[in-house]
Amino acid sequence: MADRPRVVILGCGFGGMGASHSLRDVAADVTLLDKNDYHTFQPLLYQVATATLEPETVGHSIRELVHDHSNFRFHQTTVTGVNLADRTVEVEDMPPIPYDYLIAALGARVNFFGVEGAQEHSFPLYTLKDAVQLKNHVLRAFEEADKNPDLTDHGALNIVIVGGGPTGVETAGALAELFSMDFVDDFPDLPVNEGRIILVDGAPAVLHAFNDDLRAYAKDALEQRGVELRLGQHVTSVGPESVTLQSGEQIKTRTVIWAGGLQASPLAKWLGIEPGRGGRVPVRADLSLDGHPEVFVVGDVAQAEDSETHEVLPQLGAVALQAGKSAGRNVLNCIEGKPTEPFHYRDKGFMATIGRGAAVAQMPFGVSLRGTMAWLAWGSVHLALLTGWESRMATVIDWFWDLFQREHGKRIHVEE
Ligand SMILES: Cc1cc2nc3c(=O)[nH]c(=O)nc-3n(C[C@H](O)[C@H](O)[C@H](O)COP(=O)(O)OP(=O)(O)OC[C@H]3O[C@@H](n4cnc5c(N)ncnc54)[C@H](O)[C@@H]3O)c2cc1C
Repeated sequence: MADRPRVVILGCGFGGMGASHSLRDVAADVTLLDKNDYHTFQPLLYQVATATLEPETVGHSIRELVHDHSNFRFHQTTVTGVNLADRTVEVEDMPPIPYDYLIAALGARVNFFGVEGAQEHSFPLYTLKDAVQLKNHVLRAFEEADKNPDLTDHGALNIVIVGGGPTGVETAGALAELFSMDFVDDFPDLPVNEGRIILVDGAPAVLHAFNDDLRAYAKDALEQRGVELRLGQHVTSVGPESVTLQSGEQIKTRTVIWAGGLQASPLAKWLGIEPGRGGRVPVRADLSLDGHPEVFVVGDVAQAEDSETHEVLPQLGAVALQAGKSAGRNVLNCIEGKPTEPFHYRDKGFMATIGRGAAVAQMPFGVSLRGTMAWLAWGSVHLALLTGWESRMATVIDWFWDLFQREHGKRIHVEE
């Protein structure tokens, strides 16, 4: 409709979804842009990579997500710039898109921190494509070793994971179960038990954002599953057949999983502003850009402070979702001539799972859970957050299959 304010949302991750939620069916024309035609539920990517879930379970059609949003239009296109003066968004394959209000939620990208060979020879785990490529690579490496057992001596069965945060820990635990529950039977001629899973982190403990007890529990749970830990160690180089650590240790492997860090999307550069931590865009208390009250930045790309604690908020799905909702409400306030509201994050805690029956959960007010209780809490929270009933049902079925059959059901490799 003519004369209605035009809102453009960049990115349909957690931040973009939150903003879409607040702007559904309001008196504004909203254009949602994403380079993919699906939303990715990143917390379960490692389960795609380790053959528990199908890619379609953690990727949800954006067109379907906005079916019921009568004021929305979606375009699958890559954003290449933002012109603050003209109030337009530049995209790869369409004319510039004008806006009256902009919500940027473009997320982050992997950061290899300049480690020699890491970009060329390691597998990041940040997108759905990354997860599928990693799964295919691991299955291919075992198939190749099965045909040529000499490859085993060259580290074909070893996997090195760089980064001991939740992604690294969850991936290491899931791989250990994939080896011990499936690969031992899938590859009877291979010494699967000699395959090593090694987790490397520069910090002295895994899961550094968690409290001491939970870190110690996670360490024990990983070691019980046969994961070797190299803590207080940085990776200095990655090659096609080995990884070198700061200590000089060289580990033979053809599979290096990079879960070692993030950098924000290049939004700060496009906006011509000085980036904050990790390339993020510093924002005001109401999530708007300094000097541009019509532009809001949320999620992993934003450096936002909690309006009550004044702490910089972490790059988490819950932060992005809540911030997206808040930015959407603030756009509405602007349209209606009302003042905007500062963003306050309601911390619901964070969790990580190490394997079946083993997880850690650090909740608000100093409450923490570990073991089976934390694992059940982890499963319930992730199911509740997954987008769409179809994905939830598929996940429940796959998890039950995995639990009772003791088998990861998605161990096939479809050539790309
Ligand atoms: C493996 C993994 C596990 C995680 N586990 C957890 C967890 O257990 N709990 C938790 O709270 N958080 C977790 N996180 C963090 C959480 O997923 C992120 O904080 C959250 O996704 C950030 O939301 P966002 O909207 O800012 O960015 P994203 O969700 O990354 O969304 C950004 C969107 O922008 C699109 N985009 C990017 N660049 C362009 C461009 N140039 N043009 C067009 N579109 C573009 C992308 O396609 C994407 O859809 C995890 C992250 C990863 C990678």
